[in-house]
Parts: sequence; C-alpha cells; structure tokens
Amino acid sequence: MLILVLNCGSSSLKFQLIETSAEQIQANTDRMLAHGVVERIGASDSKLTFTTAGGARKSAVEPVLRHKDAFEAAFSWLREESGLLKELGEIEGVGHRIVHGGEEFKSSAMMTDDVVRRIEALSDLAPLHNPHNLKGFAAAKALLPEAKQVAVFDTAFHQSMPARSYIYAIPYVFYTRDKVRRYGFHGTSHRYVSYEFARRHGKTRSDYKLITCHLGNGCSVCAIEHGKSVDTSMGFTPLEGLMMGSRCGDLDAGAVLYLLERAEMGQAEVDVTLNTQSGLMGVSGVSRDMRDVLEARARGEERARLAVEAFCYRVAKYVGAYYVAMGGADAVLFAGGIGENSPEVRAMISEPLRAIGLEMDEAANGAARGQQAKISKEGSRLEAWVVPTNEELLIARDTLRCILNIPHE
Ligand code: AMP
Repeated sequence: MLILVLNCGSSSLKFQLIETSAEQIQANTDRMLAHGVVERIGASDSKLTFTTAGGARKSAVEPVLRHKDAFEAAFSWLREESGLLKELGEIEGVGHRIVHGGEEFKSSAMMTDDVVRRIEALSDLAPLHNPHNLKGFAAAKALLPEAKQVAVFDTAFHQSMPARSYIYAIPYVFYTRDKVRRYGFHGTSHRYVSYEFARRHGKTRSDYKLITCHLGNGCSVCAIEHGKSVDTSMGFTPLEGLMMGSRCGDLDAGAVLYLLERAEMGQAEVDVTLNTQSGLMGVSGVSRDMRDVLEARARGEERARLAVEAFCYRVAKYVGAYYVAMGGADAVLFAGGIGENSPEVRAMISEPLRAIGLEMDEAANGAARGQQAKISKEGSRLEAWVVPTNEELLIARDTLRCILNIPHE
C-alpha cells in the first residue's frame, strides 16, 4: 500500500511517500519512494525540495502562500515530474504526525470526525502544533478524498508512564482541571528505536530494559521497561529535560518567575527566549547546531566548551537516573542527528556511565555513523548502541495497521 506521511508545521510541510504492507513490515522491506519539504510557507521566497529514492530532484524558490498550495506543488511533482504516480488515487493512506494526543490517545487512530474534534480540543495543550497538524489533515482530505487518514501522536507511546513519573508536585487540581502533567514527546522515535534494536537481535521489546537517547535539534531520553515507556525527560511541553539546540531543558520555575518580575520581560519574550535562544545556542553564543558548537570548542572557545560539557553531563545524569529507576538496564541507545553522528558527544556522555557498567569501545564508537552499531566493549555490563531513528517509517506502518485493523507493534 502507498502511504503518504505528513508532518505539517506552522510554516513548513514535510512528506515521505512509503510503500508498505503487512509482509513488508515483517520482512523489514518497506520502501521510501520519495521525500520532500516545503519551508517558509506564507513567504514570497518559500523553498521547495523534492527528491525520489532514485535520485531525481527538484529544488525551487517560489511563493507558496498556504499549506494547500504546498500540497498542490508536492502532488503535481509526484504525479507529473517524479514519474512515481500515475494518479493521486494510488495513495491509499495518509499518516499525520500529530504532536499532542493528551491523555486521550494511547495509540494511533483513524481520523474520524470525532477524532479530529478531539485533536482540535487538545490544541490548548499544543497551540503551536496541533492546529497546524490539522491544517495538513484538511488539505490532504481535500486533495485525496479517497485516502484513509490516520493520526500518529508524539505523546501516545508515553501514555504507559505510571503516575509517579508524570505527576508534577503542584496542587493536584492543576492536573485534574488543567491537565498539567508530564506527557513526553518524541514517542514515535523512542518506540521505533527500541523496536528496531530488539528486531535486529531476533527478540521483542518486552525482552529488554532500554534507555533511548533521541539527540537531535530537540532532545529527550526515555526509560523503556519491557517495551513500555515508564519515564521520559520532556514534560508538559517539549521544553523540559535535556539541554537542546535552542531550548533550555530543565530550569527552576523560580527562575522563570524571576525573569518575568525582575527582568521586565513579557510572557511572550520569556517564551521565545527559553524556546529559541537557550540550550546550545544560549550557552555557547555560537549556534544551535552541535557541529558548529563542536568546531568552536575545538578552536578553544570557552563558552562552546561549557555548552558541550553541560549538554553531555545532563544526558548522562538522566541515563543514570533511569538506570536506577528501572532497577538496571540492558542497553543505552543513541539516535537523532547528534546521537547517530557524533562519536565525540557519545564518548563524553558515556564517560561517567562507567559507574553503571558502560565500557565504551573507542574504535567502534569512532566508526559508527548513521547505521546501527554496537559501540560498547564485548562484555560491557551495560551495552551502548547507535540505532538510527525513522519516525516516518513507523508512522507509515501505523497508518497501514490502522487501515487494515491489525495490531500495533
Ligand atoms: P535532527 O534534529 O535529528 O535532524 O538533528 C540535528 C542535530 O544533529 C543538529 O544539532 C546537528 O548539528 C546535529 N548533527 C548532525 N550531524 C552531526 C555530526 N556529524 N556531529 C555532530 N552533530 C551533528
């Protein structure tokens, strides 16, 4: 079945066209046929980049005013230029990445009218994401009326967390009335990485206790006990937890109050500062991109050194905490742009984890980039692996499973 996977943001649209089936999932032979991104939707210089797995490519800068126009550009390329589709009707399913499923959605769901209404109602919890995700749904439904639409939530995998992990120590009414609790995000990535690790070993996730580190622009750690998320570092919003490219991660709520009261910053200014000018960017003053910060560190820039050190320290601290929380773990898995590609960062994170039995293999770590590889020494009590994530593939598979009504992995 041909599935279109969509990730619709405020000014961007990302898509992948994936061929999958129950047999292909079983044999791990599902295929990505094309991918594309439209950036700066609404501007006069929107950027479109479309690529097929065979290497055909379109790259253009032109005005794309609405999400619907971005879809039309992508579809006309898929049909007329890429040679992949004769007609749009060949796409039988559309999988939507939906950021927030609240407590309502514990797994992926067909986008019935009722489900769409419930996602809309959750927009309060994710005002920057859910409304845009739904714009993608509206456009896809208009242009592909026959295709089945499925919602795959970033939060769903973490719905298995026990209350002690998700409750914040504030008056309980803020949980019951205002729904303020830890939800966790990146669930599709943590779920995929743990699944893929177990699959490669001929086992299932229930055979392991794993600590997955998704280290990209956004970063989070997840404790996965026998296949279930039992804790994760992102919280009510994706701002909590690890230090990220430009998000602060853990921060004393008192510091936020102080900034609001004493530094005469408005709420919107604090919001922008903590989300877009903090993390690696804020501490290093160089960039939100780990590659730039590592380069500045190599040039001897002190704040870049501090940023990398603080970043790695915080990841190690969470891994240590989750190791204890689960009463031990079998392996630490690294994913995301940084986790998959930076031996330097992985080595720094792993150094203090010797205390819980992780012995890194320097050569294996140095060689592992972008593919699944063991990076700890033979016999290391706690293993470490690089396991590239593939959220789009999991969204495509969930979409197929929802359409065919077969159980989720
Ligand atoms: P993602 O959000 O998963 O695409 O990851 C983006 C992050 O990965 C950025 O901070 C990049 O700088 C980082 N990244 C990608 N390649 C490397 C690399 N070779 N070394 C260090 N960081 C990298």
